[in-house]
Amino acid sequence: MARPKHPSKEIEASVSYAEDQGWSWTKVKGHAWGKLQCAYHDREGCTLFVWSTPKSPENHAKQLRRQIDRCPHQEEEKKDEDV
Ligand SMILES: [Zn+2]
Repeated sequence: MARPKHPSKEIEASVSYAEDQGWSWTKVKGHAWGKLQCAYHDREGCTLFVWSTPKSPENHAKQLRRQIDRCPHQEEEKKDEDV
């Protein structure tokens, strides 16, 4: 699915980072710009909402990245020892 670019480059970087980890982006209605779901989206996979215009894009980007890193559902083969 084609994803629009986020207007904030910090947030855009976090979103593409998530995609590199196997997360997928979905458009949502309402205040959020979209949501990200981790590779395990059957039942209890992680869902993160991405805001379109947060007060501090940098903080929001950092927060997203931290939550992406915390996802317990990553495929084992993607866990490189030197990351
Ligand atoms: Zn997850």
